Amino acid sequence: MSTRESHKTAGFVLKSLSYGESDLIITFYSREFGKIKGIAKGAKRSKKRFANVFEPFSLTNIIFSRKNRDALAFIESCDIIDHYSLIRQDLEKTLTASYFIDLTDHFSPEGKSNDNLFMLLADFLAWLTREKASDTTIRFFEMRLLKITGFEPALTACVNCKTPVTNGTSYYFFPKDGGITCAACARPERYDQSVSAGTVRTLLLGKDMDIEKMKMVSMPEGLACESRNILCGFITHLLGKEVKSLKVMEQVRRYCS
Ligand SMILES: [Zn+2]
Repeated sequence: MSTRESHKTAGFVLKSLSYGESDLIITFYSREFGKIKGIAKGAKRSKKRFANVFEPFSLTNIIFSRKNRDALAFIESCDIIDHYSLIRQDLEKTLTASYFIDLTDHFSPEGKSNDNLFMLLADFLAWLTREKASDTTIRFFEMRLLKITGFEPALTACVNCKTPVTNGTSYYFFPKDGGITCAACARPERYDQSVSAGTVRTLLLGKDMDIEKMKMVSMPEGLACESRNILCGFITHLLGKEVKSLKVMEQVRRYCS
């Protein structure tokens, strides 16, 4: 058997899957190695070696080895850095964090590291420990994730005639175009919903603004609804499916508000 090198890295738990009687297959998002999938032998039995470390969105220190980048990693040890207990005490926050984790999983190919994506998760989980989950938090996370992973929607100008966004004007967002279209170019059908320049500008603001200033941005209902339609519609289009945790999170948020 070839010698395997051990690696140490910090990583967020994306998901864990039961494997056989006693093992778990864990997916992490790590800083240095990107997404890692590994097997934790005996994790279901050995509470001492792996004491509740594999809960989604926990930040952990992992030591793992693998034959090559494509092989399933062997998780030698895993310790908690941050369990985010303040998030876990609150159902709405827990589901929001789970949605962030799901999106990270969907938008990260295995074996490709992206420091910005790791930091995005770290920043937004830290934010959730301090602040309430809001429409702004969720939409700005989506905007930033899309930007960081190379799928930023084109919102600064009409994708067809290139006229920059102008206040007081209505736009249309068709996910397959990847950006906004002005009313003149869009030829909307009766059921197509327009979006305001204000919504478009708020989302553009959200992709770069200082995270501490996020609490100063509130989304009135109309703006929140248009933002959701743009981003969730686009994400569903890119992935070819809906993100499961989104619906649960939204149901709970509606119930709690
Ligand atoms: Zn146009």
